[in-house]
Amino acid sequence: MADSGSDSGDYAEPKLNSLYQHLILEHYKSPRNRGEVEDPTVEIHMQNPTCGDEIKLTLKVENGRIAEVKHTGQGCSISQAAVSMMSQLLADRPLDDAGRIAERFTEMMHGDEEARKDRSMGDLRALAGVSRFPVRVKCALLGFDALQEALKEIGAAT
Ligand code: ZN
Repeated sequence: MADSGSDSGDYAEPKLNSLYQHLILEHYKSPRNRGEVEDPTVEIHMQNPTCGDEIKLTLKVENGRIAEVKHTGQGCSISQAAVSMMSQLLADRPLDDAGRIAERFTEMMHGDEEARKDRSMGDLRALAGVSRFPVRVKCALLGFDALQEALKEIGAAT
């Protein structure tokens, strides 16, 4: 929708920002998949001390797929919205796919234009603008740091 005219360099940032801001706050206030998976395959706790963000990610893996994903924690709207958006994308995904999403999101947070246009990123694209605020990038990446840690543990266990 924002594609036309968005290549001029001075595209309607404020408008996009408020739209994205709305989506971020919406996830923050009504996080998806909040809670803890019962009998999880892997459980990761991550902190971002510079902002005070905290995330506990629990995953249930079955036949190489993420059967269930849940998170708890506290912190700023960006960290909590990002993990909520992430959880939405991960349910019923093959583990390889989850790893790809994590890489893609990390690229996006480092300002990669291609990644930010990738529709498979779902609501996470609302966070693309955060890449301009290096301090907040850590907030956005916290959930994915937990995911990558989780994938490592799963890989080591199988
Ligand atoms: Zn934060």
